[in-house]
Amino acid sequence: MKTKLSTLSAVSALMMLNCGCSGNSNSIGTNDPEREYVILVHGGAGEMGGLAKDPEKSAAYYTALDSALVIGAEILDKGGNGTDAVRAVIRYFEGNPLFNAGVGATISAEGYFELDAAIMEGKDLSAGAVAGVRHIKNPIEAAYAVKTKTAHVMLSGEGAERFAESEGLEMVDDNTYFATPKTMKWVDEFKKASKKNGTVGCVVLDKNGNLTAGTSTGGMFKKRWGRIGDCPVIGAGTYADNESCAVSCTGHGEYFIRHSVAFNLCARYKFLKEDIKTASEHIIFNELNREAGNGGLIAVDKYGNFAMPFNCSGMYRGYLYKEKATGTVKKGYGIDSTMIEK
Ligand code: ASP
Repeated sequence: MKTKLSTLSAVSALMMLNCGCSGNSNSIGTNDPEREYVILVHGGAGEMGGLAKDPEKSAAYYTALDSALVIGAEILDKGGNGTDAVRAVIRYFEGNPLFNAGVGATISAEGYFELDAAIMEGKDLSAGAVAGVRHIKNPIEAAYAVKTKTAHVMLSGEGAERFAESEGLEMVDDNTYFATPKTMKWVDEFKKASKKNGTVGCVVLDKNGNLTAGTSTGGMFKKRWGRIGDCPVIGAGTYADNESCAVSCTGHGEYFIRHSVAFNLCARYKFLKEDIKTASEHIIFNELNREAGNGGLIAVDKYGNFAMPFNCSGMYRGYLYKEKATGTVKKGYGIDSTMIEK
């Protein structure tokens, strides 16, 4: 069955009725692999208040989502590697203070910025991750270096930093490099009831049919004692397998770890033969919920079908794909359940 993009909002509304759950979802799917490439991005999920309805505040987020999609699409359109597109998009997000990754990361209970990131390629299940790093400018690049230059999957803390430095990656001496005026205020008075969740992610189906997933985050506000979230845990917050899907998650990481969300989705797709919409909505709305597993995910399958469900009030997200037959590029982004389609 083919779902036309122009009916996306109506379809989303129907899906919300059908799944019998409170939440939001965008998905588009067909069994024909008729897209040349697909890129999806997210900039975190959570309770957004009225942000999406405030044109002034939301404009900066829409611009950032659009820029991220364009950065990735430029690489994919030239036949570039999906992994390079994911890295470029996440590097962009890590440098953008609007999002909880790199500059703009949330703070730990001790007042530090401790970052996690992961990347995985579906063609050979190769994966790399770093956790709890404080001085690596672009954690996604360190994750990529772990994937390509070591026999390991995850490095943490000081060891990850020593490795990144030995690989010539850009380091920052001062951990407050990742601060913004807003987060510096938290550093000074972090006991105040204020929080920032988020995470950024990108999943891609490239022209060669390869799936890649990447995720980067500052973690959960006031996280304790070297806490590591779902993002760098392969199978929890990040997963890619060319036989099924590429997935990047955002939300309350402990629940995403317990439910192995990213792998779980791929397994439902591969073994239960569920489509991407059914599999992802089952996990986000039925296994997780707003109270126990607040958050969402972005996922694309090997045919270019995709889903972006979330069980909270918003998720910064966007999609872009190129149709094979017509060469038409379709793009959309949103914060709450409404998608702005271009
Ligand atoms: N999933 C991230 C973590 O638990 C946080 C987030 O996405 O908001 O570290």
